[in-house]
Amino acid sequence: MKRLFDIIDDSKRVILEKIEEKYLTDTLGRITGTAQALVFPKSTEEVSRVMRFAYENDIPVTPRGAGTNLVGSTVPVQGGIVLDVSQMNRIMEIDKETLTAVVEPGVILSDFQEAVEQEGLFYPPDPGEKTATIGGNISTNAGGMRAVKYGVTRDYVRSLEVVLPDGQVMTVGTKTVKDSSGLALKHLLIGSEGTLGIITKAVVKLIAKPKISIGVLLPFADLKTGIHAVLHVIRGNADPTAIEFVEKKVVALGEEYTGLSFPYPDAGAYILLTLDGDDSKEIHRRIEKIKKIAKDNCALDTLVLEDPKTIETVWQIRGCLVKAVEAKSEQIPVDIVVPINKSAEFIEYVNQVEKETGISMVSFGHAGDGNVHLCVVRGNRSKEEWEKQSCEVMTKIYDKSHALGGLTSGEHGIGISKKPYFLKASEDINLKIMQQVKAAFDPKNLLNAKKVFQ
Ligand SMILES: Cc1cc2nc3c(=O)[nH]c(=O)nc-3n(C[C@H](O)[C@H](O)[C@H](O)COP(=O)(O)OP(=O)(O)OC[C@H]3O[C@@H](n4cnc5c(N)ncnc54)[C@H](O)[C@@H]3O)c2cc1C
Repeated sequence: MKRLFDIIDDSKRVILEKIEEKYLTDTLGRITGTAQALVFPKSTEEVSRVMRFAYENDIPVTPRGAGTNLVGSTVPVQGGIVLDVSQMNRIMEIDKETLTAVVEPGVILSDFQEAVEQEGLFYPPDPGEKTATIGGNISTNAGGMRAVKYGVTRDYVRSLEVVLPDGQVMTVGTKTVKDSSGLALKHLLIGSEGTLGIITKAVVKLIAKPKISIGVLLPFADLKTGIHAVLHVIRGNADPTAIEFVEKKVVALGEEYTGLSFPYPDAGAYILLTLDGDDSKEIHRRIEKIKKIAKDNCALDTLVLEDPKTIETVWQIRGCLVKAVEAKSEQIPVDIVVPINKSAEFIEYVNQVEKETGISMVSFGHAGDGNVHLCVVRGNRSKEEWEKQSCEVMTKIYDKSHALGGLTSGEHGIGISKKPYFLKASEDINLKIMQQVKAAFDPKNLLNAKKVFQ
């Protein structure tokens, strides 16, 4: 491993001893691996030389951005090198002519959003964890709050520069809007969780920044009524940017965690929407549609949130929920996605399993796209009890989601922790093709091996 010092001529960026534990795990820290080296390259050339060295010496490599994933995908399970791209963090270009930006993979999402918004532009993908990197977002095809209107990270990637496991550098896509030129290699790389190559540069699409954003909060007596109303809102042609749902019991945890207060405390559940655009009157016309739908579907009220402070409070509470639950008890995050017309049936099933098993499952999530986030909560169960019972509960809810036509993960990815459920739900032929794609990119199986489909 000492030869890494010849490749990266900076002793602070090659760590061979006492590697901090946070680099051997994910954000939850439940599974930890081992590594013989941790490197922080600063250029594509350094990444390429590290990869060639690893390839020639059969050394496993685990790529890493900010390590905010929730599925163990940055755990170096095979040892070897952890390759952290967080110091490749330059925004290289914001191109107002083609409405694109060129970024290195370690650029932090919130820094990027701020930089483009200063130019009057907008990068719509908005996953909850803003300290994640753009490279990590692309590698997980991150979703988030605004997917209902704007889509997910995949929809914003125009081009990628990638270092392959043997050190070769490949570029896929360009700044063009359209591309019908050959197999879509770019789309294989997006969401591949670091199993095929290291992203060293990305060209992403930008749009004009909407001038106005207004929030609408719909309180309901219970979650079931709220979730039923969501379908009508989606079909109601009101073009919301985000439609989130959250139960009162989890809002209470968020309030405790942040010290803030959510409006309209006397409800069992809430649907939170945002609407954006450039014309206030036009947005208010859409809000009128939502008000009518809400009334027809038993909402207790319609609160239009125009005061920036209230909007910030509400989204701050919504944004902290994973951390708020985690602060109370160990929990397993689940981000199952079902067809939008099956969300209510799925959540009702979850409530039924909760009653039958006594295992608490708090739910919130992206109601507008069927991406249900559950925290399966350990409480004070012993390790043995928890392992057995959580496995039983998880099997039930994953089986149900698959039976409803849903998928194991809507946005967090598979990593290690969701692998058993993903493998169980996948057809053999799909897994076989994934293995063959993997072998084409990584014939020695050195890059993030044993993850996702392997
Ligand atoms: C509180 C909280 C809220 C969250 N909310 C959301 C949400 O709303 N939506 C959502 O989608 N996710 C969410 N996440 C999950 C997480 O933030 C995302 O998965 C994010 O995209 C990971 O980015 P990262 O930079 O932290 O990547 P990491 O965690 O470092 O890596 C993730 C995966 O990408 C690979 N990888 C990273 N960089 C590269 C690269 N340059 N080249 C190749 N492979 C690479 C890694 O090997 C790993 O497999 C949330 C997480 C937390 C803690």
